[in-house]
Amino acid sequence: MGTPEDLIVQASQRRRTFAIISHPDAGKTTLTEKFLLYSGQISQAGAVKARSGGRAAVSDWMAMEQQRGISITSTVLQFSYRDHVINLLDTPGHRDFSEDTYRVLSAVDAAVMVLDVAKGIEPQTLKLFEVCRTREVPIITFLNKLDRPGLDPLEVLDQIESKIGVRPTPITWPVGIPGDFRGVIDRRSGNFIRFSRTAHGAQEALEEEIDPTAASHQEGENWKQAVDGVSLLDEVGATYDKKSFLAGQSSPVFVGSALTNFGVRHLLDAIVDLAPAPSDRHDLDGNLRPIESEFSGFVFKIQANMDPSHRDHLAFVRVCSGKFQRGMGVTHAESGRILSTKYATSVFGSDRDTVEEAFPGDVVGLVNSNELRIGDTLYVGDRVEFPPIPTFVPELFALARARDTGRFKQFRKGIEQLEKEGVVQVLFDPSGDPTPMVAAIGEMQFDVFSHRMHFEFGAEVELTRTSHKVARRTDQATASELGGLGGVRVRVRRDGTLLALFESPYWLARLQNDHPTWKLDDLIA
Ligand code: GDP
Repeated sequence: MGTPEDLIVQASQRRRTFAIISHPDAGKTTLTEKFLLYSGQISQAGAVKARSGGRAAVSDWMAMEQQRGISITSTVLQFSYRDHVINLLDTPGHRDFSEDTYRVLSAVDAAVMVLDVAKGIEPQTLKLFEVCRTREVPIITFLNKLDRPGLDPLEVLDQIESKIGVRPTPITWPVGIPGDFRGVIDRRSGNFIRFSRTAHGAQEALEEEIDPTAASHQEGENWKQAVDGVSLLDEVGATYDKKSFLAGQSSPVFVGSALTNFGVRHLLDAIVDLAPAPSDRHDLDGNLRPIESEFSGFVFKIQANMDPSHRDHLAFVRVCSGKFQRGMGVTHAESGRILSTKYATSVFGSDRDTVEEAFPGDVVGLVNSNELRIGDTLYVGDRVEFPPIPTFVPELFALARARDTGRFKQFRKGIEQLEKEGVVQVLFDPSGDPTPMVAAIGEMQFDVFSHRMHFEFGAEVELTRTSHKVARRTDQATASELGGLGGVRVRVRRDGTLLALFESPYWLARLQNDHPTWKLDDLIA
């Protein structure tokens, strides 16, 4: 038996917390399900789909997700694999929700980037991957759908390097021609891993490890081509490098097929063997909060009304240090208030279980802690405040009015809640027009906003798009200068952030050119 601190360190070292980022249809859902199969969580693949398909939609808003076949909400899966506890945080696959992805990425220690080998890097998803790179999250790449004809994998590697700016370093490499995927070379051993599929990929793929001489015998030309590919990778130095991987600069690549389970085990092993365990986290002042110190964590997501029969409000907290125990009083750093954690839950889709304890890397859901906001810190013992999660400068703007003025109370409540969840940003006119302006990065955020206002808050909204094209974060001094100019509006967020909105990017460029000292930041505000 070790000290309580030792136990926390041990529990942390056994945890891996990651997210999958991908373009819709690249295979994230299939892969997630196969992770559950390989971890023994389900005995037969097909169960997850059947389950969600067979369930009555729990809210109209989830119905919207289902209709569109995209994931808007993020959920958290926890499963064990090889004596490790794996936390998989879901991210929305659509670029319009890049900001949600960014928030989830603040709560993980690594990301798995899933690419469809037939599509490579699709322009719409580039933003998601860029977000990942800006956060310097270590990325493991999975090149999926190798069972079908696709691009030359070397071409996809080029795209990863040129479009995302991350150097790909394959660990496995395909053997077989497109459409006849036989297995992989494991570059670590040089051996051939032959896969055999099972019916519908419902069970684990059979794997056989074969030495290079025998592989050459059995696979002939396929083997030769794969070996040539690997020599090329060797020549250009595309070889796994731990330091640059952990810094988010290079990415180990695995190839496979989520559908037939080929390569799924390699990927899962890589999450355990290569992805980093949770570690000490920097606070607002740049000091490290040691992982074994008392409990601390931060809110990375807020979600209300996931279950309309409860009308609840859930704050997702990533544990950063110490042991969380349900019922403990935790201090909310921003208000200094003590919160009860009697209602702490795990979150698996819409299923909830009470969580009794959690360790660094885990995610707990706190129910009805209404004062919590995204980025807020909770702690026990020595005070700590983690840095806020930055938001993006919005690109789309609309004035929001209640269609039925008799429902103004519901309208206001809805706006406040959805602002808190980060569904849209809400901007106000400091000089008096009471009509709130909603602002977003992607069109679909407006759709979710209108839909939820209507169905959850009973307040239909009318959105009138404004002619603004671009926003910049500004300060009071610059705001006063801008106040008198045409084609510019200054708006303020509830948190006090000032944003200058411009009707034309050229006009903005000209002002920046003429007034280099004005504060007009294009970075995330
Ligand atoms: P998501 O939108 O990223 O979650 O993608 P899904 O997992 O729902 O997969 C999209 C489609 O691609 C589905 O029809 C899957 O059956 C299919 N798919 C997923 N992985 C593979 C694969 O490895 N090979 C092939 N041929 N199809 C796949």
